[in-house]
Amino acid sequence: MITRFAPSPTGRLHLGHAYSALTVWRVARDLGGMALLRIEDTDSTRCRAEFEAAILDDLHWLGLDWPRPVRRQSEHLADYARALDDLAARGLLYPCSCSRSAIKTAGARPGWDGLVYPGTCRHRPMKDTGAGDALRLDLGRALEQVGPLPAFTEIGPLHRGTHRPDPEQLIGLIGDPVLRRKETGDPAYHLACPLDDGIQGITHVVRGADLWHATFLHVLIQRLMDWPVPIYHHHDLIRDAAGQRLAKIDASRALAAYRADGVDPAGIRAMVGL
Ligand SMILES: [Zn+2]
Repeated sequence: MITRFAPSPTGRLHLGHAYSALTVWRVARDLGGMALLRIEDTDSTRCRAEFEAAILDDLHWLGLDWPRPVRRQSEHLADYARALDDLAARGLLYPCSCSRSAIKTAGARPGWDGLVYPGTCRHRPMKDTGAGDALRLDLGRALEQVGPLPAFTEIGPLHRGTHRPDPEQLIGLIGDPVLRRKETGDPAYHLACPLDDGIQGITHVVRGADLWHATFLHVLIQRLMDWPVPIYHHHDLIRDAAGQRLAKIDASRALAAYRADGVDPAGIRAMVGL
């Protein structure tokens, strides 16, 4: 059993992250497995080395440890480029130059995670890709290529059971996802995350319930790329020791601020009900 905690170094860890990290290590311990740390630093405009150093420091302070070396996504850009080339060769990607406002005025409807891309650029061939274009996955074609989607097992408290991604919902509520970001050409989360889970042999993905719907897309991508489908555990948002949902202002406060107030790691665990 191998799981992982995969923060992005775009800021300091807050109490919500601490809860997630502690949950990852708790699930690993309960299942007799191991927790890895992965640094998801592909967003070249927002990720900073000092944030990564601060994240490592906060996690060590919480009493967490992990095997070295840590996988840092920015050191594996060739892996993501290869996966994109593979998808492009199969006719599954297209370039997109749409801005947020263009997507809005094109009549995009709200979905599970913001507006569902209405497919404006889906007819564009890859050879017309401009320097600043994003690359999107053509979901309809991808679903055709993979055939029936596999079911996945969820062991978290909120959705425990077996689930099978529904193609209609993927198309209607997620839409063609960006796999390579515009402007920077950075690999996007929906590509880098499942690829890394596959390469690192992650058997159990433990993460927040805010990513529940992304999992339906990740299972499609795993099947498409022939990567294994792990077991999932989506945890609830943080609650205090009495089971009350923690106020957002407390949950989003930096761990460093609690440390500066003299709170110790046991105090943090108590605050998040662990
Ligand atoms: Zn577009």
